[in-house]
Amino acid sequence: MGMDRLQQANVIDGKAFAAGMLEHLKSDVAGLLTETGKVPGLAVVLVGDDPASAVYVGSKHRQTVAAGMNSFEHRLPAETSQSELMSLIERLNTDPQVHGILVQLPLPKHLDPNAVIQAINPDRDVDGFHIANAGRLATGQPALVPCTPLGCMMLLKDRLGDNLAGLNAVVIGKSNIVGKPMAQMLLNANCTVTIVHSKTRNTQELCRAADILVVAVGRPGLVRGDWIKPGAVVIDVGINRIVEGGKSRIVGDVAYDEAGHAGAITPVPGGVGPMTIACLLSNTLTAFRRQHGLAA
Ligand code: NAP
Repeated sequence: MGMDRLQQANVIDGKAFAAGMLEHLKSDVAGLLTETGKVPGLAVVLVGDDPASAVYVGSKHRQTVAAGMNSFEHRLPAETSQSELMSLIERLNTDPQVHGILVQLPLPKHLDPNAVIQAINPDRDVDGFHIANAGRLATGQPALVPCTPLGCMMLLKDRLGDNLAGLNAVVIGKSNIVGKPMAQMLLNANCTVTIVHSKTRNTQELCRAADILVVAVGRPGLVRGDWIKPGAVVIDVGINRIVEGGKSRIVGDVAYDEAGHAGAITPVPGGVGPMTIACLLSNTLTAFRRQHGLAA
């Protein structure tokens, strides 16, 4: 029993995959510089001093620079008004050096995140949260797709190949940033998709029929071993901090030790997490290409 049952080959190494993506991105950026004389630029807006957000923004900046792209950081004080934030977005929407715009969430309580997101030019909305991008994804048009589910899809295709048609896919969680866009992407790939959420009645039974199981809930150990069909590919999006024996550590939503019979599974940490920033940079490159009429 235990983790040793998970043979190495069954563990999906998101960290290594993301590192490989960054190398590709770097050479793509260098190629674009030769082709267009420009490099993609990503503007990240952080309002206030939430420590976790500051860490995320810092690592986005470092990786953007490491990929050879321009990084424009806008760190604004917590008391920034809605109209000040909106006018910054307007400036970024037309700045010729900026191809991707991201507003780090959550925003301080007095600001309306939805109004801010909808103010971003959808072609520069590298988080993929604008309703235009949600609509494009839902109708199968070229969209900017939210980074976390995009990363999950890449890991799935790396394991299963590009053709996922006809597979049973179950997504647990229906948030706008993970569950729903994940389900849309799987549907666009012609999977038979079931979305499970807190009101679902026969969750375990549905999960046991899944060839692909994507879990994005935020509850440690929610998915037990006997919810997983032997051979299924399991993508664990959850990030939960737990304290065990006086020590704090990060775990996912899947009881990892019980998943030895899965065909493959992402560990937490080191699975989906590292893919998110890599996909943000990939989206920035996609946005740049589309804005320059290049194939993306
Ligand atoms: P969220 O907005 O809180 O959504 C959670 C979803 O889980 C909701 O749809 C909820 O259902 C559902 N749910 C709650 N309890 C359930 C249960 N017992 N059975 C089935 N479904 C249940 O969370 P999120 O933003 O999607 O994030 C989910 C997890 O992923 C979190 O741990 C988060 O930290 C992590 N995450 C990781 C990354 C990354 O790796 N980069 C990025 C984003 C999020 P209802 O809608 O019915 O309430």
